[in-house]
Amino acid sequence: MTYDIIIVGGGPGGIASAVEAYIFKLKKVLLIEKGENHSETIRKYYKDSKRVDKIYKKQEITLKGNVDFFDGTKESTLDYFEEILDNETINTLYNTEVDRVVKEDGIFKVVTRKGDYFANNVIVSIGRMGRPNKPSYKIPTSIRKIINHNPYDCRGKEKILVVGGGDSGVEYACQLTTENEVTLALREPKFVDANAINEEMVIRYDQEERLRIRYNADIDYIEALEGRVKVYYKNGFQTVYDRIIYAIGGTTPIDFLQRSDIDVDDQKRPIYNENTYETSVKGLYLAGDIIYDKGGSIAMAINHAYDVMQHIIGKK
Ligand SMILES: Cc1cc2nc3c(=O)[nH]c(=O)nc-3n(C[C@H](O)[C@H](O)[C@H](O)COP(=O)(O)OP(=O)(O)OC[C@H]3O[C@@H](n4cnc5c(N)ncnc54)[C@H](O)[C@@H]3O)c2cc1C
Repeated sequence: MTYDIIIVGGGPGGIASAVEAYIFKLKKVLLIEKGENHSETIRKYYKDSKRVDKIYKKQEITLKGNVDFFDGTKESTLDYFEEILDNETINTLYNTEVDRVVKEDGIFKVVTRKGDYFANNVIVSIGRMGRPNKPSYKIPTSIRKIINHNPYDCRGKEKILVVGGGDSGVEYACQLTTENEVTLALREPKFVDANAINEEMVIRYDQEERLRIRYNADIDYIEALEGRVKVYYKNGFQTVYDRIIYAIGGTTPIDFLQRSDIDVDDQKRPIYNENTYETSVKGLYLAGDIIYDKGGSIAMAINHAYDVMQHIIGKK
């Protein structure tokens, strides 16, 4: 099934995008949200009973589209978004974190741990609150620079431990083998989160001794050791590495953009068309806070959704 539009992120920008799509009669629409419910930012970061202002931080916005928005409280705002999602019977998929969006032969593949979804257009509305998941044990402050969540700081000729057997972990590990000595550690006795192509690739790399896979390798704790990191595995073994890359879920907005091949400027801000919010990848749009480095507002996110939809249906 190829959707007309897949929307990544079920906050105000994502919900408004889904509603606009429905009103403009695009029926094959899927909204994917990593949390258990829509509007995770409002649920998690707003205090109970918080006043929610339409004019937020003096940003006075005239709404352009079909989705209205009013002053209220945290609770009334959540109820309102719930109601418009229900009224328009939007197709939603919760508890599903999108890892990245890739364009293959003109169709977008939206990659999640639960499988891939396909669409002609994608709207990314993931906000700015995303953080990579961290391990439960303490990371010593003195080695924070060599404890990473992506491979962008690796310098080459390093002994690197990549933790996590999902698609990101596998891809980082394989990619790093060109210039580094790489071990990939997973807690499970086999790959459970990577897709079949990645699993086949990493097992082949292991067979060819281009990297090393350690199954059942759960880490107990880590220590700093002369600028390097000593890893104590729960099975009693210990190994010293130059760097650890944790790929155990969660993602920052910038990682998401880079993994999705969206061009960013030298300040790592996404490059997009200011009228249509289309990125450097044709058919891949942004809406809401992901666009700004200093934060937007609910009304701004709702307006982006309308502008994006106008472009998708050819009115812009
Ligand atoms: C404390 C606080 C108070 C605020 N008060 C106001 C106010 O009074 N009025 C106002 O207008 N604005 C207010 N804002 C700003 C407002 O909340 C944001 O501008 C608005 O939520 C942006 O909507 P969004 O859809 O872009 O992003 P978000 O609301 O952040 O929603 C993004 C959604 O995407 C999901 N997501 C993230 N990554 C992924 C992924 N990889 N895969 C799938 N889903 C993903 C998240 O779980 C989340 O549900 C406030 C913000 C904060 C933090």
